[in-house]
Amino acid sequence: MIDVLIIGSGGAGLTAALTAKEKGASILVVGKAYPTNSQTSMAQGGMNAALGNVGDDSIESHIADTIKSARGLCDEAMVRQMCEDAPKTIAWLESLGVPFSRLDNGKSDTETVAQRQMGGASAKRACYAQDYTGLKILHTLYDTCLKVDIEFLDEYYLLNLITKDACVKGATFLDIRTGDVKQINAKSVIVATGGYGSLYHGYTTNAYGSTGDGITAVLRAGGKVSDMEFVQFHPTALKGSSILISESARGEGGYLVNTDGQRFVDELKPRDVVARAIFSEFQKGQEVFLDVRHLGEEKLMELLPQEVALCKLHEHINPAKEIIPIKPVAHYSMGGIDVNNALEVTGIKGCFAVGECSNAKVHGANRLGGNSLLEITAFGKQAGKNAYTFAQSQEDNEVDTSQLKEDKKEIEALYTKENSINFYEHRELLGKLLYEKVGIVRDNKILGLAKDNISTIKNQIHQMGLSDKSPTNNTNLTDLLEFKNALPLASAIISSALERDESRGAHYKLGFEIQDDEYFKRHIVLGWGELICK
Ligand SMILES: Cc1cc2nc3c(=O)[nH]c(=O)nc-3n(C[C@H](O)[C@H](O)[C@H](O)COP(=O)(O)OP(=O)(O)OC[C@H]3O[C@@H](n4cnc5c(N)ncnc54)[C@H](O)[C@@H]3O)c2cc1C
Repeated sequence: MIDVLIIGSGGAGLTAALTAKEKGASILVVGKAYPTNSQTSMAQGGMNAALGNVGDDSIESHIADTIKSARGLCDEAMVRQMCEDAPKTIAWLESLGVPFSRLDNGKSDTETVAQRQMGGASAKRACYAQDYTGLKILHTLYDTCLKVDIEFLDEYYLLNLITKDACVKGATFLDIRTGDVKQINAKSVIVATGGYGSLYHGYTTNAYGSTGDGITAVLRAGGKVSDMEFVQFHPTALKGSSILISESARGEGGYLVNTDGQRFVDELKPRDVVARAIFSEFQKGQEVFLDVRHLGEEKLMELLPQEVALCKLHEHINPAKEIIPIKPVAHYSMGGIDVNNALEVTGIKGCFAVGECSNAKVHGANRLGGNSLLEITAFGKQAGKNAYTFAQSQEDNEVDTSQLKEDKKEIEALYTKENSINFYEHRELLGKLLYEKVGIVRDNKILGLAKDNISTIKNQIHQMGLSDKSPTNNTNLTDLLEFKNALPLASAIISSALERDESRGAHYKLGFEIQDDEYFKRHIVLGWGELICK
């Protein structure tokens, strides 16, 4: 039996894998796609660490900025741990070969790493590799995993965790290529399956696969979720395609202007503030644009080549010469699997969760740009270490196969099920419904309607089946499984948003515009039993 099973091969999963392996664990990394396809590759702007390479900075300022942005909903010890770990995590990534952009300052090592401004930060703190930061980090982590012979199973879709007496024993997977359902036993499991931003289908910067599968699997296995109502809306996605234009564009000096050419907000305020300011311009009938023309083509190509390419490709706009039409869309899941300070899942022993799928209480009501790449690497290491320590306390016992049998039956049943309602249409509807009714500005009556809409979809789920009956490489099947996972999470977002009668960070509610610390300086925690759509 392996020591540590890591589910998810993004930045969090790969960092955990490298650490567990280095400690001496036998490990396996399993993902529904290929590692380099993970959403981590899309991160553009940077990763925070108070190196102070460009102006003064300190770990205390990093902690203070993170706590301020979290609006009272973070665990200060966890924030401290993350921010203190940041400089050594950059040094570690550099030692692996991440090609960070450099300063020509005659110094050496991490003192030469270039740093830029991000929203809500009191210093130029984000270390970057042009605007391909996540891609470079992910590829370097993956290269390193291959070098140290870490074993991967790609195109394995997590179905369920296996538990006994509230202790994890492994997980079941659909082998997408063959169509077989398989069981992998392990002494400990790390869930690193990414966030749930893609529930806002069509209105998100996220990859299609960010459907929160791992979070739903944890819920089904008896774990909990918390802070699900806190979905971050990024101010600057391209208006037509929802493709992200990184905050680094504003950090490097870009402006936001309305149709009248007026600036209307301090562009470097935290994301919740800027997103609401844009929403309010929309309410007044204005359109909103990002203007980076004054930076000049040379600087744009040096610092933001990917943003320039994305604007040209998706919006047919040359940012050096034209203003860029933008809109805020869902970007990051602050909520997720509830974990303790050792990153162990509430309610499931030996199961750890890390990265965007988890709620380690470092982002609270609003994540700071650059703190996610930091979280996945700094806490990825912790998760790898803690999972291995737990594994060492476990016996090599036989694991029963009842979950495997159940999952085999369930997959077989999907092939014979009625298919009179096209779930792809409902996936679109779900995205629109969440964006319009559970978006930047919320209202209890409208949230109630959203809850009813979700119940209606749930009641029709037995009519949603497969149009493609191929046993192998069946993406229609994995799309349906993802959609089924998305519904309970949509329920969790709405239930938590309904309960939180106040405004705090990314959650802003009409009629309750004030932050109410007396009643709501707390996390809303939900289990499977509390959800309307199971
Ligand atoms: C466009 C964009 C730009 C961003 N820019 C920045 C930035 O500049 N700085 C910053 O700090 N953050 C940024 N972020 C956020 C950051 O990139 C993510 O929060 C972070 O990379 C998440 O890493 P992760 O390892 O937790 O998850 P992911 O990278 O999403 O990896 C999840 C893994 O789980 C696997 N998986 C999912 N479901 C299953 C399943 N059912 N079975 C098996 N495997 C599964 C996936 O295949 C994948 O390998 C950005 C995000 C986006 C979308």
